Amino acid sequence: MKIMDKKTLSELKKKLEKERNLLEKDLLKFADKDKKMPDDYDTRFPDLGGRSSASDENAEEIETYENLLAVEYALELRLKEVNEALKKIKENNYGNCEICKKGIQLDRLKANAAATTCMTCNNKNLTS
Ligand SMILES: [Zn+2]
Repeated sequence: MKIMDKKTLSELKKKLEKERNLLEKDLLKFADKDKKMPDDYDTRFPDLGGRSSASDENAEEIETYENLLAVEYALELRLKEVNEALKKIKENNYGNCEICKKGIQLDRLKANAAATTCMTCNNKNLTS
């Protein structure tokens, strides 16, 4: 495989770090970082400000909470991918497909710097 040049690698790294910061910022808007588990966040139960305990207000809070949980899950998943990619850069193991071990196409990495599989394996995964 063609070894990635340092400039490209550092550009991808910057991109990943930027995305990580954005993801963490988004998560912290409605969730607290879990102190025991790295990259794990706990969604805060929303307090919509209603003083009374009317049941429709509670229902609204629960709905909001459930929506936030889904968002939290998606953001967390992406954050894990991004962190995984950054770890690989640190270990000089970045840019290789997890399935066939060949280098991942640069275009693919530029579109998604946290990609873990090459185009070929990704397509195979989608069709199987
Ligand atoms: Zn592959």
